[in-house]
Amino acid sequence: MAQVVLQNVTKTFASSPQTAAHKGVKSPKTIASRPVLNRISLTIEDGEFMVLVGPSGCGKSTLLRLISGLEMLTAGDIWVGDRLVTRLPPKQRDIAMVFQSYALYPHLSVYNNLAFGLRRSRAVNKAQIPERVHSVAKMLQIEDLLTRLPKQLSGGQKQRVALGRAMARNPQVFLMDEPLSNLDAKLRTETRTQIVSLQRQLKTTTIYVTHDQTEAMTMGDRIAVMNQGEIQQIAPPLELYRQPANRFVAAFIGSPPMNFLPVTFKANQLVHPAFAIALSTEWQQALTRYSQQTLTLGIRPEHIEIGQKPGAIPATVTHLEALGSETFVIATLAEDQAIQIRVNADQPVAIGNILQISFPLPLIHLFDPVTELAIRP
Ligand code: ADP
Ligand code: MG
Repeated sequence: MAQVVLQNVTKTFASSPQTAAHKGVKSPKTIASRPVLNRISLTIEDGEFMVLVGPSGCGKSTLLRLISGLEMLTAGDIWVGDRLVTRLPPKQRDIAMVFQSYALYPHLSVYNNLAFGLRRSRAVNKAQIPERVHSVAKMLQIEDLLTRLPKQLSGGQKQRVALGRAMARNPQVFLMDEPLSNLDAKLRTETRTQIVSLQRQLKTTTIYVTHDQTEAMTMGDRIAVMNQGEIQQIAPPLELYRQPANRFVAAFIGSPPMNFLPVTFKANQLVHPAFAIALSTEWQQALTRYSQQTLTLGIRPEHIEIGQKPGAIPATVTHLEALGSETFVIATLAEDQAIQIRVNADQPVAIGNILQISFPLPLIHLFDPVTELAIRP
């Protein structure tokens, strides 16, 4: 078990950035190409379950491949425990990776798939292999499958074997790259819970990659939100939800996503063509330098209040999604401002209805118009 430290990890896929740097030549091509990962610094604590989440193409898999040693860094350093592994080959890093594609050996039985890495490892006493394989198989409830070939397994079973292969090696670190993507929704939810409880038992430092914010929220001790090769925020799940550092995180975490509306700060109010919100003194102070400027107001669909009261804003229902447990309403305010609202399932709503809505002050978010950083009272 070990802490993992990433220091200014940078990766550029260019023609040959290393050669250019080596010769002290700054090739224009190298300078022009934007790094796929830009100075990522992150500490994953010993035993922690860290989730990296972000949209497709933001650099998650590349980061895992750098940590595992399958890909070399352009700049920066990676530490596993007290070992600097930046230039070590994958085998010497004591890290096991689980891929979305499972990557099982098709011609080997489940038993041999689980034992494969152990037989090749100098660190493992060969006499212990059967015991290790059986103990992992038991933990993952795949003991009955040990003699089967991968093609005789369901997707969920293959996924457990891939997980078992990583666990059998008893590495210092698990890396998991979207391991649940190929499973159907129900199995995905079950396996999610199973991975979390296994990790809690084994206490192996884990870095788990997903593009799915629900997976991130339900699995991570902490979550690092990434976009375009940079970390946007690192925090425990509920902190990301309650205090997103910027508009990107606010939009990415939470489903359906937060609503964003342009508002102008004037006369101690947030003014939109369809409404005005009176601000507390704390907010007024936080906004002094934004006088007369247009900001972005954020409000989550589940935080919008419904009911007649002073200052309530009329919203005309244009679209409904009744899920049974709750209903999502799309409505328009004056000036064609669309907004999504979560409504209790027992509340009767129909298209064309006019709801009276309000935005509770403690639950609104405001973002700087230029930097998109959250402004806090
Ligand atoms: P994610 O896993 O978050 O979807 P990736 O790490 O796979 O993203 O990719 C990040 C970016 O790096 C993408 O723009 C991708 O096209 C690029 N990329 C990944 N691998 C290579 C490579 N071997 N050569 C060039 N570009 C690559
Ligand atoms: Mg990926």
